[in-house]
Amino acid sequence: MPVTAIVGAQWGDEGKGKITDLLAQEADVVIRFQGGNNAGHTVVNQHGTFKLHLVPSGIFNPEALCVLGPGCVVDLAFLCRELADLERSGISTANLRVSDRAHLLMPWHIALDRLDERERGRKKLGTTGMGVGPAYSDKVGRHGIQVYEVQDPKRFRARVKRELELKNPILERFGDAPVDTLPLVESALAKDARVLLEGQLGAMRDLDWGIYPYVTSSNPLAGGASVGAGIPPRKITRVIGVVKAYSTAVGEGPFPTELRGDEATALRERAHEYGATTGRPRRVGWFDAVAARHAHRLNAFTEIAVTKLDVLDVYERIPFCASYELDGKRTSDMPPTLVLERAKPCYETLEGWSTAITGVTERRELPAKATAYLERIAETVGAPVGMIGVGPERAATLL
Ligand code: GDP
Repeated sequence: MPVTAIVGAQWGDEGKGKITDLLAQEADVVIRFQGGNNAGHTVVNQHGTFKLHLVPSGIFNPEALCVLGPGCVVDLAFLCRELADLERSGISTANLRVSDRAHLLMPWHIALDRLDERERGRKKLGTTGMGVGPAYSDKVGRHGIQVYEVQDPKRFRARVKRELELKNPILERFGDAPVDTLPLVESALAKDARVLLEGQLGAMRDLDWGIYPYVTSSNPLAGGASVGAGIPPRKITRVIGVVKAYSTAVGEGPFPTELRGDEATALRERAHEYGATTGRPRRVGWFDAVAARHAHRLNAFTEIAVTKLDVLDVYERIPFCASYELDGKRTSDMPPTLVLERAKPCYETLEGWSTAITGVTERRELPAKATAYLERIAETVGAPVGMIGVGPERAATLL
């Protein structure tokens, strides 16, 4: 059964959008399985540059069915704006289906999110303030409103009385069209359709296995893909772990290989590391194989996709972290959050290739030192390197 999960193996923003957009050209179904519009997947293709927040990155393939799975939280007003923007750019959104079991993200979730961050003051989590955490809290607390509930306007009105004016236009648009996506996905699987499961964020932000409490409210792991998309675990046969050739993080929490000062500014500027959703400067650092190996242990990647290798073109020497020093001992296991805050990265120095690789079209044309860098990633993470990103465009990917 050709079901492929595309999951982040770091702190998020690994370039999953680009990899999904590429593979979606050959897919029949693309399902976002968790998260909300806090995602910011950047896709550069023949239609232009797009920052997708809620809509699956498969939307550019007019033949593919795109699904927002039950594991997602959906801000309908935001979704309407995103769909309108895409339509204005000439992208048809006719093939998008929203699961009737997905949860609605309501205006009060956004207000609560911002209030909670303000309350936490200096200990804030660094959320995007889009209400995703509170929407999942309501879901877990059994207060959530599911998409199908908009079908019963009377009951729905009772629940969202105060927001009625704001919600009416959205109801008009969606009220008659909630869909049970389970039969759609099931029949696609029965026909051996090619299905992509698109994750948001990465393993280090996983609710259970990430740096709690600086985590997201869902599970970006392949295990979460099964639940969040409604695909039985045994049907997922390919799991692509997306990593950047270095590391970035948005928001708070431990990030052992983080760079500071001029070195950080240089890498951030070169790589354009500013949040796709918030515009916030991203924290940047060297590749952390302990984190990516942690992701591999939880996901069993069939392959790793390394993005943004071209960003490292200008470095003569590249520090690479394959273990931490923790209380005088070396470890390559990922400790829990407060312990991780004490961990110091142990660096080995890999040689840079000092050549522009963006025009490279074949893997064998890569400079030997770039290949050695990729081999070191494969060796320390424990999975082979599949795709390699050498530029932002869809075509700038070595297979
Ligand atoms: P996502 O949320 O995991 O999809 O990641 P983002 O879209 O937030 O961040 C990835 C950024 O890197 C986007 O701006 C992409 O256009 C860009 N990008 C992806 N792959 C490559 C690559 O191989 N090289 C370069 N230079 N940029 C890339």
